[in-house]
Amino acid sequence: MVEDESAIAELIAINLRHAGFEVTVAADADQAQAAVDRVLPDLVLLDWMLPGQSGVVLAKRWRGDARTREMPVIMLTARAEEADKITGLDAGADDYLTKPFSTKELMARIRAVLRRKAPEALDTAVDVAGLKLDPATRRVTRNVGQGPREVKLGPTEFRLLHFLMTHPERVHSRAQLLDRVWGDHVFIEERTVDVHIKRLREALAPVQCSGLIETVRGAGYRLTQSIGSVAA
Ligand code: CA
Repeated sequence: MVEDESAIAELIAINLRHAGFEVTVAADADQAQAAVDRVLPDLVLLDWMLPGQSGVVLAKRWRGDARTREMPVIMLTARAEEADKITGLDAGADDYLTKPFSTKELMARIRAVLRRKAPEALDTAVDVAGLKLDPATRRVTRNVGQGPREVKLGPTEFRLLHFLMTHPERVHSRAQLLDRVWGDHVFIEERTVDVHIKRLREALAPVQCSGLIETVRGAGYRLTQSIGSVAA
């Protein structure tokens, strides 16, 4: 959350943490940029009026950078003029909330934007080619032979599979996976991704799903939804 008024920032942060989110508060554009450089967040709440560089300028800069282009942004502002909303949305905001707003509305909008752009941040169960992943129970199962069989995964493989299943058919580079799954694109080597992809495929073999994860040469990895190409 990027908000210079500490009372508002604290109130929103308390509500978000209560709802299960991890929150980092930045008081200006520089702090926000530094935080995003460290860890790519699932979503940014961005105040329009900030000391120094404005939220609109910051949003535009993020949209122009390949690493942050897809990062969900909800703009918060005291301005209610339609022209301002258009400016905010044109700058690349995914949604727009005018102060004062209720916590309920903020949560609903956060969930709506996450559903669209970062469903791996929500606890919604996913099903691809009969492979079921439930973030709430942290269980992965698929019906093979007699009935459902559970896939045993380590925490990193679970997060990796969750991300791939919620963004199927798209090619993800190793750097993108480090950002979105590990939250660290600086200190972890790209080879680490290959190691965990290998473990994930091995874990999926007993339920005939290793073939779901495709290697795209020179580009990265992709999870396919087509059952035809699924084979152990
Ligand atoms: Ca402000």
